[in-house]
Amino acid sequence: RKAQLKKLATQASVSADGVHVELAANIGSVEDVAKVLENGADGVGLFRTEFIYMGRKSFPTEEEQVQIYKHVLEKLDGKRVVIRTLDIGGDKELDYLELPKESNPFLGLRALRFCLTREDVFRTQLRALLRASTAGKLNIMFPMIAVLSELREAKRILEEERAKLIAEGIAVSDDIEVGMMIEIPAAALNADAFAKEVDFFSIGTNDLIQYTMAADRMNESVSYLYQPYHPSILRLVQMVISAAKRAGKWSGMCGEMAGDQIAIPLLLGLGLDEFSMSASSVLPAREQISRLSQAEWKSIAEEALQLGTQEEVKQLVEQRSASR
Ligand code: PEP
Ligand code: MG
Repeated sequence: RKAQLKKLATQASVSADGVHVELAANIGSVEDVAKVLENGADGVGLFRTEFIYMGRKSFPTEEEQVQIYKHVLEKLDGKRVVIRTLDIGGDKELDYLELPKESNPFLGLRALRFCLTREDVFRTQLRALLRASTAGKLNIMFPMIAVLSELREAKRILEEERAKLIAEGIAVSDDIEVGMMIEIPAAALNADAFAKEVDFFSIGTNDLIQYTMAADRMNESVSYLYQPYHPSILRLVQMVISAAKRAGKWSGMCGEMAGDQIAIPLLLGLGLDEFSMSASSVLPAREQISRLSQAEWKSIAEEALQLGTQEEVKQLVEQRSASR
């Protein structure tokens, strides 16, 4: 089976009825790129850049970051690389940064919220991304957006840095897509408005589930609420995918759910364009999708949305997977 999977590494990601999707991989460092290439991923769907900032004594410089982003873009050789701006706070802390003590850090000053209060840190990262952009196909993605004003502010700062670089005579790609994660229910519910102002969405289900269920993703005593196939989650996912389609944009998913065998047929049926997962899941997912008919799972997904519990959804998927 391993050898069989290996053969799929050079093949396209396409469903049994001919629908092409993108199967990308999540990375947290330059070292992770080897596995991405080995497993024949169609690109990088999430580079968690916070790991560049962790385990050191000070913020990484612009120059250090340029080298890292360039390296990843070059290695991916023109395939899409989605780089997420700094997602710090919540459970992720930096030794050299005193964040305010908060009683609910996951509901506090994390990710883009933090970046908008520390523009110096944010601008340094954006400059590095823009400077690296000519090395490949760069997509920039903002995490943890709840309201439009945050997106607009982030984009305004990005455009300012782009203009500065161009004025300095530094080359910047004119083909950078700018998108956002959907990991807060408010953003999913308002996806139509967001879709007009981004090039793409990527659904972060790890946080989206946590915030929808009001259940800390790290807390074992409420882990039973961590239900990716729950109809409430599926409905939010559907809203996001549909809003993207209406606006002519593409949608992806980079939470754990994107590589989940039960979720994949439903996500394909709902029309998700890009699935980003751990590199080791890419080939199994490619194999699974090659056996699935998107048209058939479109109607099964619609059925799933009408159910009341995660268990019923799981049963439906298992039944319909086995019956063919
Ligand atoms: C997510 O929330 O689903 C996600 C991909 O981001 P992270 O796991 O880094 O919070
Ligand atoms: Mg997240």
